[in-house]
Amino acid sequence: MKETVSQMRQVEEIMEKKCITGHIYDIQGYSVHDGPGIRTTVYTKGCPLRCLWCHSPESQTFTDELSYMPLRCVGIDKCGLCLKACPEEAITEAEPEESLQNPGELITKVRIDRERCTNCLACAKACPAKSLMPSGYDITVEEALRRVLLDKPFFGEDGGITISGGEPLSQFDFTYELARRSKEEGITVCLDTTGYCDGELIDRIIPVTDLFLYDIKEMDSRKSEHFTGVKNELILENAVRIARGGGRLQIRIPTIPKLNGDLENIRRTAEFVRTLGDAVDLVQVLPYHRMGIPKYERIARKYPLPNIDPPSDEYMEERLQIFRELDIPVQLH
Ligand code: SF4
Ligand code: SF4
Repeated sequence: MKETVSQMRQVEEIMEKKCITGHIYDIQGYSVHDGPGIRTTVYTKGCPLRCLWCHSPESQTFTDELSYMPLRCVGIDKCGLCLKACPEEAITEAEPEESLQNPGELITKVRIDRERCTNCLACAKACPAKSLMPSGYDITVEEALRRVLLDKPFFGEDGGITISGGEPLSQFDFTYELARRSKEEGITVCLDTTGYCDGELIDRIIPVTDLFLYDIKEMDSRKSEHFTGVKNELILENAVRIARGGGRLQIRIPTIPKLNGDLENIRRTAEFVRTLGDAVDLVQVLPYHRMGIPKYERIARKYPLPNIDPPSDEYMEERLQIFRELDIPVQLH
């Protein structure tokens, strides 16, 4: 029997959807910090913001950087493949150091001259130890979903998939389709977003999102631009849009002493959150930490913040109290 034009079109559409590809930098199972319950988090690459405190610098760019993890290098005398692969002679021998695996033995790892490096990634392709790697990779919706489904038995009632970033709405087709297909499989979907996107995308993603993990970083737009690279009006507008459109919100506030952690900003944030009404399930206040610093070293980027100490328990408690006084459910993250 001959296929009709409309049947052929349907097949084409199915094939197109099957091949929607995203660019991501990680998939992490058993994640307990990215929404309720046990979740598998898909981290998309690329973000329009440049938060000074960002702990995932590899998430920021849409293109890949060369990432180097010296711990994994087995040493030039045993391998040395990257030196041969590099067309720019950007890889040389580092100073010998004591091997962690075999104390007393010296091991010579590699040094990358980032001035010479053109980011061609030939060395990463050659490195058998995944010591040199591109900071991201392509994955189709179907491949990502297959990986998430492996973890489904651990999700229980509360868990599921979280699509995070970077900014997942910057790769809208991938994010939408992964969320939609996850829901078809009976998996709940959290979307971790900066909210810095076209409002129309928010309207389209609401029906396939069970919970938005939504950062509000700074209420003063001028300071927002200084701390994050963007003004805050669109972010605040989209939070209202989600609330009015029937979406659920978990608001997250990264709290950085000397930047956005001042009591005035937290008070203004709490007052704004109150205007979102019962669309807000929970506010999480996230104390500043410095755990992302080694990731900057891996991709040879300079950590943008000067020395700022993580806040004390008392400092955080004072901020939590502001939300409690307004009857907003709040917790320390
Ligand atoms: S990315 Fe290319 S140019 Fe840079 S060190 Fe690797 S092989 Fe050499
Ligand atoms: S290819 Fe990888 S493991 Fe081999 S020397 Fe280079 S960095 Fe080390």
